[in-house]
Amino acid sequence: QHYLERIARLDPMLNAFITVATESALAAAERADRTLRSGETGPLTGIPIAHKDIFCTQGLKTSCGSRMLDNFIAPYDATIVERLAAAGAVVLGKTNMDEFAMGSSNETSWYGPVRNPWDQTRVPGGSSGGSAAAVAARLCAAATASDTGGSIRQPAALCGVTGIKPTYGRCSRWGMIAFASSLDQAGVMARSAADAAFILDEMAGFDERDSTSAEVPVPDYVDALDDDITGLRIGLPKEYFGEGLDPRVGEVVMDAIKEYERLGAEIIEISLPNSPLSVPVYYVVAPAECSSNLARFDGVRYGYRCENPKDLLDLYERSRAEGFGPEVQRRIMIGTYVLSAGYYDAYYLKAQKIRRLIVEDFKRAFEQVDVIMGPTSPTTAFPLGSKLDDPVSMYLNDIYTIATNLAGLPGLSIPVEPVDGLPVGLQIIGNYFQEARLLNVAHRYQ
Ligand code: GLN
Repeated sequence: QHYLERIARLDPMLNAFITVATESALAAAERADRTLRSGETGPLTGIPIAHKDIFCTQGLKTSCGSRMLDNFIAPYDATIVERLAAAGAVVLGKTNMDEFAMGSSNETSWYGPVRNPWDQTRVPGGSSGGSAAAVAARLCAAATASDTGGSIRQPAALCGVTGIKPTYGRCSRWGMIAFASSLDQAGVMARSAADAAFILDEMAGFDERDSTSAEVPVPDYVDALDDDITGLRIGLPKEYFGEGLDPRVGEVVMDAIKEYERLGAEIIEISLPNSPLSVPVYYVVAPAECSSNLARFDGVRYGYRCENPKDLLDLYERSRAEGFGPEVQRRIMIGTYVLSAGYYDAYYLKAQKIRRLIVEDFKRAFEQVDVIMGPTSPTTAFPLGSKLDDPVSMYLNDIYTIATNLAGLPGLSIPVEPVDGLPVGLQIIGNYFQEARLLNVAHRYQ
């Protein structure tokens, strides 16, 4: 009741939710109440959460922020939705997002932008802007999200919450609408690393329905929260503190890192020499994969269909032209171009080779250090509308988060001291399957 009342009062301003599931939430809360009374509780009994609208939910609209899926009600639950329900969580609704998770500001959503709760003239970040704003404004206790190039960490940073993108393959992608399948990963946003650990404990783990799901045992993330971090070796990549970083953001991030020194950690300067290439590589690989993944939206099987098509080709063309927004169309065109016969070697193949170099940069770094730290985003939340006409400047906002996805590594963002009343995130990157370590390191700061 408390959360539904807050949503009713505050969400008309924030626009963090696409769907509020009042009835089913109250019914689930009542069931949780009975379970609590009977003493047979699950690990998340009665915890009110929200799901990013990229996760399929049976009987509840799953739009992916697009007109294309405005009428889509999935006939099944995504694996993580199923697992969190089995743990007892109560779903309050589905959160707003950039269309098909393409964006860094939540402004490409068919349902309109989300506003940053700290300053409503500013963006919440994206693409999981609705989840971040909802957690920040206390419209839910935690929210699921997805991260293909920074979509959990960047909005978490801009809204002042904790967000973790696990290792590629750690959480099932089954029932999570695909954007770029070699980069997509589900994760969680919460008020703290401790809260995130409780949720991730239930979400993570092997799923035979996802062919890229990792068959690696899941440790107890909550158990590891208080582990000692004396002697922790923290790598600071010099490329993450150079040109393009707002100096005041750099300063509060460095202050936080110094706090770790006081907690017994050791700071080591490292280099990730190929990281400046991560944005151009990403904007070849991600559109290539999206152009293939989004081919399924053809106006025939499900989703938006144009009115009065004159023939089949007209049905395809107009359904896609009217159903997809401009950013999604731009990505499909870039992807189709870089995969086409004459350009495949020059763009796609080259990007794949540089992706390998980026992976090797991290491999070398993790021979020297336990975690890597730096800013999550080069600036604080920017004003709504300020980057909409300049896609390249929007793309550069993800300069510190994208390499992690290209390498498949886990990354987390926690709030540090704000600048001018706006939140700033510290990013902590770990080696493969080191989520427990990341949450532990984050928790020791919080
Ligand atoms: N901002 C990046 C993009 O637009 C990343 C989005 C994401 O992680 N889903 O592709």
